[in-house]
Amino acid sequence: MADRKSKPKQGDACQVKGCGKEAERSVSGESAREAGLPVEEGLKRVHLCKDHYRQYKKGTKQDRVLESLGR
Ligand SMILES: [Zn+2]
Repeated sequence: MADRKSKPKQGDACQVKGCGKEAERSVSGESAREAGLPVEEGLKRVHLCKDHYRQYKKGTKQDRVLESLGR
């Protein structure tokens, strides 16, 4: 019950357009769009399935690359 940090409750579906698989994670809608995922505009949180979460992490890696280049 205190376990609702980033895990969506069971039965939520991935909110990437055309997917609809079982969601495993939820991320902010803004960062999902930055990662290049086709999600609905205006969503604050989007639920992602395992595959799309992986894609999300790939898409957001760029930030880290830029950070390490700056060092
Ligand atoms: Zn998905």
